[in-house]
Amino acid sequence: MVRGKTPRKPLRKAAKAPKPKEVTAKRAGKTALLKSYNPLAPARINDILQRLDGLYPNVTCALHHKSAWELVVATILSAQCTDVRVNMVTPGLFAKYPTPQHFAALEPEDLEPDIRSTGFFRNKSKSVVGAARKLIADFGGQVPDDMDKLLTLPGVARKTANVVLGSWFGKAVGVVVDTHVHRISRRLELTTNDDPGKIEQDLMKAIPQNKWILFSHQIIHHGRSLCIARKPKCVDCPLENLCHAADKTWSTVDMHKGAQ
Ligand code: SF4
Repeated sequence: MVRGKTPRKPLRKAAKAPKPKEVTAKRAGKTALLKSYNPLAPARINDILQRLDGLYPNVTCALHHKSAWELVVATILSAQCTDVRVNMVTPGLFAKYPTPQHFAALEPEDLEPDIRSTGFFRNKSKSVVGAARKLIADFGGQVPDDMDKLLTLPGVARKTANVVLGSWFGKAVGVVVDTHVHRISRRLELTTNDDPGKIEQDLMKAIPQNKWILFSHQIIHHGRSLCIARKPKCVDCPLENLCHAADKTWSTVDMHKGAQ
């Protein structure tokens, strides 16, 4: 034995303290609450829509346009580009080439310098010139108000077609799914999908059809002002207590791993 040290008693395992009944009951209640939580419950969806109406009552398409054709072109140019940049480019573009016939007469390379600053200008030039030619060849130079026909135009997929149908023709055929709608629909648990086509189908089931056009405008504005991709401004967000997104920056409710 080392001098000056008293032998230690072996440590006895502390008996587990019984769980207070109140805590157990609370946990059981919480589990039941989580089990019964349905992110697609009509009451929750209505609440989300009402708050969006309060936040963004009269929002419209942010791309400047004076005709269906201008909106087709602006939407094609907006891929991977900000609407602000597109709105800087289109006034000069439409002054130079006022009709689809003017665009159809170009070779794609002729258009490239005019739209270079929007990015991906080679593909976009091909799409715009191709869409103009198709419009003249098959639709008498008029933009059709029909999803299937719109989808035959080069460079036009469902997102562009939905923008044109909703914002120009006032037809709610689908829901615009851009990068903001994609991100925020997942954060709000309106979908668990990652593919824009599947997200659109989920939103068409969850949101009443008379709200499809306005909803996408509102969500796009929300994505620009508050629910931005990195560090959303949750502390300022009126949807906060309905939102369980895993990447919230501030929260008064449980955050769900699935909601992101
Ligand atoms: S609380 Fe945050 S993550 Fe949720 S919708 Fe609002 S800004 Fe987006």
